[in-house]
Order: sequence, then C-alpha cells, then structure tokens
Amino acid sequence: DLRRIERALLSVSDKAGLVDFARFLHGRGVALVSTGGTRDALAAAGLPVTEVADLTGFPEMMDGRLKTLHPLVHGGLLAVRENPSHEAAMLAHNIRPIDLLVVNLYPFEATVARGGTPEECVENIDIGGPAMIRGAAKNHDDVAVVVDVADYALVRSEMEAHDGTTTLRVRRGLAQKAYARTAAYDATIANHLAATALEEAPAFRALGGTLQEPLRYGENPHQKAAFYRTLDARPGVGSAKLIQGKALSFNNIGDADAAFELVAEFDPAGPAAVAIIKHANPCGVGTGATPAEAYARALRCDPVSAFGGVVAVNRRVDAALATELAKIFTEAIIAPDADDEARAILGAKKNLRLLLTGGLPDRRQPGTLWRTVSGGFLVQERDAATVDDADLKVVTRRAPTSEEMDDLRLGFRVVKHVKSNAIVFARGGATVGIGAGQMSRVDSVRTAVWKAQEAARAAGAGDSLAPGAAMASDAFFPFADGLEAAVAAGITAVIQPGGSLRDAEVVEAADKAGIAMVMTGIRHFKH
Ligand code: 5GP
Repeated sequence: DLRRIERALLSVSDKAGLVDFARFLHGRGVALVSTGGTRDALAAAGLPVTEVADLTGFPEMMDGRLKTLHPLVHGGLLAVRENPSHEAAMLAHNIRPIDLLVVNLYPFEATVARGGTPEECVENIDIGGPAMIRGAAKNHDDVAVVVDVADYALVRSEMEAHDGTTTLRVRRGLAQKAYARTAAYDATIANHLAATALEEAPAFRALGGTLQEPLRYGENPHQKAAFYRTLDARPGVGSAKLIQGKALSFNNIGDADAAFELVAEFDPAGPAAVAIIKHANPCGVGTGATPAEAYARALRCDPVSAFGGVVAVNRRVDAALATELAKIFTEAIIAPDADDEARAILGAKKNLRLLLTGGLPDRRQPGTLWRTVSGGFLVQERDAATVDDADLKVVTRRAPTSEEMDDLRLGFRVVKHVKSNAIVFARGGATVGIGAGQMSRVDSVRTAVWKAQEAARAAGAGDSLAPGAAMASDAFFPFADGLEAAVAAGITAVIQPGGSLRDAEVVEAADKAGIAMVMTGIRHFKH
C-alpha cells in the first residue's frame, strides 16, 4: 500500500511553509504543478514549476473562479492507478497522474471575521479547491491530500521513512481530515448566509438587543438574568423611565409589560382603564369615568390577589388614583404619565416603583415576539388583531343587549391578555371573574365562577358577581359543558371565536338557556 509521489499539485492561499516543503519535494525528484499565485511564489524561490494553465491549455479566468476545474487536473486526481479502463482513459486523453495534492482554501472565515463586504465574502468562497480536495480524498488509495500547513511535516517524514512513498494508513487519515475541512468550510458559508438573511429581514431586526441593566436574578434567585432593550420604539416597559422606587426585578418587568399591553387595548380618549397583574395574568381589569373609579372596579374583582401586584393605567395618574394605590402594597405602577400631586403622594411609598412611558402603544402596531426553545427560538408577530363590531356575528336567537355588548367587548379585549385557557366574566365595565391558565376550558370557566363568588363575598355583594355578566373565551368551546357551567352561574351573554366542530351543539345550548352569543372569528391564545 505504499504509493510513490512523482507529481504534486500545489495550490495554496496560505503560503506559509510552502517554499520549504516544495524544495523538499523537488529534492526528492517530485514534479511540481501550481496555480498562478503559488507558482509565482515557487518560481521566485528558484524552483522549477509548471503552471496549471500550461497543463490544461486554459488560462485562469473569471477572477480566479476557474483555475483547476479541468479534466486534466481532476482526471489526474481521480484515476485509479491499477484499473485498466482508467489507465486506458488516461492514455487516450493524455491525463497524467497527480500523486500529492496540497491545497488550502480561500480564506472565507478570515474575510468574514475582518468584516469584508458581501462581495468580498462571496468571492472568497473557494470552488476548485474543495473540488480537488474531495476528489483526491476519494482516491486516497492512490493519492495523498494535504489541507493543513501543519501536515507538511507528516508527509515529509513519511516520504523520508518510506523512500519517497506514503502509507495507506497516513493517506486515509489525511483523507478524513480533508473531508472534515470541506464540511466545516461549507458549514461556515451556510451559517454566514443564514446570519445575513436574518439581518436583512426587517421583522427580525429587533432581535439584536443592547444591555439595559443586569438584574439581580431571573424568575428565581438561582437564575442569572439581564434586561436587554431592542430597537422597538413602542412605548412600554422597555423604554419607560423609572421615576421612583427600587430597581425592577425580572418578574416586575414581565408583569409591567403584560399590564401595560393590556391597558393599551383601551383608547385613552374613552374611559379610563386599569389592569392589576399578578404572575403575568390580570387579576382584575376595570374601566370608569376616572382612573380611581376604574381602579376600584379592577380591585373588586380579586382584592386578595391584587396584593403585591403590578398596576397599569391607560392615562395620566392623578391624585385620586395615587391615594387609592398608596393604600395597599403594590410592586409597581406603569402609566403614560403622572401629575405632580400624584408623584408627591406616591413618593411617600419609597419602595413603590413608578414607571412612566410617555405614551400608550398602538394596539394595532405590528411587532415581533420571540422565545427560546432548547436548540432554537420561535419568532412570531405580536397579536395585533382587534375585533370591531362589524366582525361580530350574533349566532343565537337572542342578540345581546347594549349593556351586554359593552361587557362582551371589554371581556374579549381582556381575555386576549390572559394565559390560555382563558375565561373572563365582565359586568358593568369591569371583570368580575377570571379563569386563567387551565388545561381544560371547562376548568377555566369553573375558576371564573369561583372567583366571581369570592369577589362577591369580599365586597359583601351577595353570593356571586357572575349573574348578569358576559363571558369571553379566548378560543372556541370544544364542548357545551363550559358554556353550561357558565349559564348555571348566571352568565347571560358570551363572546368567543367559534370554529369548533361542535359549534352547533354549543349554540343550541346557548339558545336553550336563552342567552346571547356572538362569534369573533379571531382566536387569542396566549401561552
Ligand atoms: P493561487 O494563489 O495559487 O493563485 O490560488 C490558490 C488558491 O486557489 C487555493 O486556495 C485554491 O484552493 C484555489 N483554487 C484552486 N483552483 C481553483 C478554482 O478552480 N476555482 C476557485 N475558485 N479556486 C481555486
């Protein structure tokens, strides 16, 4: 399995160690063939060398894209030496064997690393080099291939030890290294192109973030965390100013974001809206003529959970709201603005964080949301869908009254911001029962029913706040059971996307109960 090296093709971008190695080969009687730049380096060192262009009869052309891609080169690398038909082909076409290939590739990686232009990067994708490397490596029974300057010494010691030949064991090792090199080279090119595509897609530009502040910890004390800002100019927690209070925690930031996005569903030109968020879910949302009234209604929905919550308002915080907010322990308040009196009142609460955003984001504004999964990340548009009255279809015999209609609209805006499966009961411009994050829709209804009972008890307002309320569901009812549980609790109107195989069964149950139902055609899953 020893193969004598009589003719070598050298084509290297990195010319380190080239002349020494070539001089050694020449001293062993090896004929040298080279591409332009390599040939020049060898000729300058006084070594006799044939240029590939002279061998093939074709000049190098197209900025070097075509140098060695020729049958006289590839035939010499690929021909199996003791194969009669290969030998006949060589004879017929004047193909002479190449026993040693020495190639290192165009410096694609280095061109990217030094910030080369897109054109420079593309031009540094080597074509003929990998083609020759793969051919020579395939034919390692007969041909030795060197892709790494560090292996010149190996070939040299082989030839010295075995009288100008190499062993199969070494040729096989070199072939393995050669394929590893071309595979890595192509992988680098593919990754570079993928990264470029990502940069160019405007939707993904917001993924590049700058460090805003390191956080004390993440969701739990044993998790390190930091807050990054993106280029997204949407008014919100990312661009808010912290007017007073301790630094925000990881969970504060998440809750403030959830709270503010929720109140952004309510046009500040309309009624005031307040959301109280706990663990990323609203525990109460209220609207009213004033922020204080909206807050009182939000608080009534679940005063127990509101303790230690994050509060968002869709308009300027005034003194009346500040006075109410100061009464119970709240982690943070996020609002477009606060007047001087309100700032003074809240200023007495040293630990309360006040975040002012300067404005309310447009709920219809497109944007991107992303989250990691192991081994990757998911990107989606933000849920900018809104439901107008024209989108609503009454599917029951009874249509909602105008009061029910108001509560249905409110419920559907809120349910979009509740983790699925989500059910919201709304009455009189506020939520009165919220069922969040259950694995079955009927359980979310049961939770909302129970919360409406708790709220009534806490307010001294009878058995339940559910009777006469409207129910919003983030997705369709797969069965009538959820609807029936709500009806039993006194719900009189329902809003839901529709689209279940059993829609007819659900509508029939609604008709039987004499309640009104509208379908939106829009689903608001949130996980
Ligand atoms: P030289 O400096 O000798 O002119 O060029 C050496 C470089 O050209 C090596 O990196 C080799 O991989 C590359 N090369 C050899 N043949 C071809 C070819 O046909 N096309 C391209 N694009 N590159 C080649």
